[in-house]
Amino acid sequence: MKAGERRRRLLEIISAGGMVEVSKAAEMFGVSKMTIHRDLALLEKEGRVRRVFGGAVAVDQGPATPSKSCIICSRPGPGNLRYIITLTGRGAVECCCPHCGLVAHITYGADISLALATDFLTSIPFTASQGSFVAESRVVPCCSPSILAFRSLNDARSFASGFGGRVFSFSESLSFLGGQLGPDHSLGCCHREGV
Ligand SMILES: [Zn+2]
Ligand SMILES: [Zn+2]
Repeated sequence: MKAGERRRRLLEIISAGGMVEVSKAAEMFGVSKMTIHRDLALLEKEGRVRRVFGGAVAVDQGPATPSKSCIICSRPGPGNLRYIITLTGRGAVECCCPHCGLVAHITYGADISLALATDFLTSIPFTASQGSFVAESRVVPCCSPSILAFRSLNDARSFASGFGGRVFSFSESLSFLGGQLGPDHSLGCCHREGV
């Protein structure tokens, strides 16, 4: 496959799934990770993708696109909290913050093919299932109970030691939130507590 063709395919993957991972792409195209890194660097230079840890994501199409509202609570999300999930057959949709992102996991379950959380400290997107989450800290920038996402476990611990809250893995935070929601997953929880 020619380099140009490979880059076109990479763009397709990113626009369909929201993100491409370097290691998976290298495997898929049978080339080295270095080659994929170079492809993504070039695409980034052309302003077509944004590189993130381990891969690249679609660039925002600029101010022409109105900020999308949260699929769970309909509130427009502050940029540094965004949680983007890719639903089979629906493409990428936004959640305002990790709280709603995790609610979306509980709601949509197996329909979610990819989930990207945004690191609370660096604003860098990362694969949500590999991150750490701080629940119920004193910092409540969006929905309550507050859940913030961190790419690094150490960052999550440092944050919690300063601002309180409990540090959870992805699956622990899912069960935590599952326990907070009613048995019918009543989702009104977020914004009816006088946030
Ligand atoms: Zn929300
Ligand atoms: Zn929220």
